[in-house]
Parts: sequence; structure tokens; C-alpha cells
Amino acid sequence: MDTQLLIEHNTRNATSTPNCLNALGLSPTGFTRLLATHIYAQFIRPQMEYGLAIQKTQQKHTKLLENTQSSCLRRIYGSNNQRASTKVMQHLINIPSMKIRVFILQAKFLNRTRWLPEDTLLSSLLPIIDTISTSRFGQLKKTALWKSLPPQTAPYDNKQIKAATKQLLNLEFQETRNGPKSKLVAACRPYLLIDPIVWLQMKYSQRSRLIRWRLGWMPNGGTSAICRNCNDNQHLSRNHVISCFDVHTLLNISYVVPDPISFVLNSLPTKRPTSDSKKRYWKYIWPRLTRLMKEIDRLCHDDDLRENDSDQPLSIKNDFIMWIDQPNTDSAHRSPSTSQYTLTQHSSD
Ligand SMILES: [Zn+2]
Repeated sequence: MDTQLLIEHNTRNATSTPNCLNALGLSPTGFTRLLATHIYAQFIRPQMEYGLAIQKTQQKHTKLLENTQSSCLRRIYGSNNQRASTKVMQHLINIPSMKIRVFILQAKFLNRTRWLPEDTLLSSLLPIIDTISTSRFGQLKKTALWKSLPPQTAPYDNKQIKAATKQLLNLEFQETRNGPKSKLVAACRPYLLIDPIVWLQMKYSQRSRLIRWRLGWMPNGGTSAICRNCNDNQHLSRNHVISCFDVHTLLNISYVVPDPISFVLNSLPTKRPTSDSKKRYWKYIWPRLTRLMKEIDRLCHDDDLRENDSDQPLSIKNDFIMWIDQPNTDSAHRSPSTSQYTLTQHSSD
């Protein structure tokens, strides 16, 4: 089987699927980022992954897969810039790189061969194949994930594979954080999880602003953008709006912290707070944060903001404060659990 042709065919299919969804009237902008991510992981990514479990992939194949995933992520976030970095997009919704996805698929395939009944063809051939170092089967064992598993001849259980995968994902994430052009991703949470800003209850406009801050799209400080909040002809940069609005004082954050907005976003709860002090803190900070983000958003537009946040009636589904005050009786008090999410992500394996 020609790996290059297979991957080209798979990625073409994956790229055309969102167009089919559009033709059915399902626009990506109509979904939440989290739902769009689930749709991607359930219906689009499996098309890219078809047959990869038994293919020896090279760097050029991985690059093609990564580019296709990046293109899908840009569609999920509504970016028209085909060169925009997707590091932060990937981190916010906790989607692994395609390189690691290939490792996972191949490790699971290798592990399954250990469960096969003795009278299957592959089981009969394995003693011979295993002695040929250049065989494709032997090549599959050279991935970083398979090599990180403890040496044993018995099949691995799911926990062992999950633990090794988690370790590899963390390692890759730390490399990304420490790598070049990582300022924005380094301002996000320093560990892997679905960022609460994509699922916490808040208005569409509020979520959009928080995500745009994370992605570096707000303020959209092009070289000619000037701050209209002060009269100093200052460039409308991320650092300038922080000092211009005296965000440290507003959000009660120490001046030692370079980006107080990201600092507060990194503290957002991953489950509904139970202590009164935490509830009081968020009731104090949240209105200040959302007002501030609206003011920064206003500076990014020449005309006034068309949408009026107060038009949308408040409900438990779009108000963070109302959500905080709810008793912890429903399932919505928790973040999308890691195990649940992992299951969703990998159910197509
Ligand atoms: Zn200013």
C-alpha cells in the first residue's frame, strides 16, 4: 500500500467533510467550540486516520496530517488566515497532535495482536515476522509511545497505554511551551485539559472575547492600530491595553504578573466552586473581567460594537454567576471529564 497516496486520499476526504456539513446547513460557527471539537474527533479525524495503524509514516506524511488538522481547527475557530498558528487552538480544546495520534493507533494495533487467538493467520506468522527487523511490523514497534511502554510479552492493559500516552502528550506540550513563538501558548494553563473558557456558562460574546484574547486576536494591534482610550498615540498592543486600563489594579493582581487577564483565565474553576470565599471572589472578579474585555473589544472596532450584551436574557445556560450559585446536583457542575473526553476521542480507534 502506498502510504503517500493513502494519506493524500484520507486528508482530501477529511477536508471535504466540513463542506458536506455546510451543504446540510450545519455551519461551524453555529456550534460551540467544544461540540465542533467532538464532531471533528468523531467524524472528521477518523477519515484521516484510516489505515494509519499499519503504515510506516515519514515526516512528510506527518506534516500533511498536521496541516489538515490545523486547517480543521482554523475552521472550528473561524479563522480565515491559513497561516495562523494553531498551537493555542489545539491546547484550548486538548486535541493531540496527529504525530501522537499515529503513535496511539499503532500501539493499539500492536497490542491487539497479542490478544489474537493462536489459530489466526497473523498469530501464526508473528514468530517469523518478529525476526525480520526490516518488516513493517518491526517498524511499528519503533514509535516513541511503544518504546516507552514497560517491556513485557503479555498484552498491555488500557491503563498502561493511557499512562504512557499521557506522559508523551505532556512531554510534547512542554516542548511546545518552551519552543519558539510560544508566548501565547505559554500564557495558557501550564498543563493539558479542556480550557474552562470553552465550556463554562457565559454569553456568546463573552466567550468569544476570552478566546480571542487567548488566541492573540484581541486587541487586533496591527502596526497602524492606535489606542483610542488614551491620547498618547500609543500602539494598540496587548501590553499597552494592560497598562492603559490598569488591569492589575482592576483585577487585584500583583504587578509581578505580566499578563493579569491570562492569569485570571488560568484561575477559572474547572468545576463549580463549593466554598463561599471562592464564590465571593468570582462574583467580584467576573463582572470586572467581562466589562474590561468589552472595553478592549470596543477599542478594536472603529464603530461601536453592534451587538449589545444586555440584549441577551440571562439564564443558567449563559450566566457564569448564576451557574456558580446553583447547587451541585446536576452533571453540569463538572468540566467535561478527562476520561469521558479521552473515550470520545479514542472511540474511533
Ligand atoms: Zn491607551
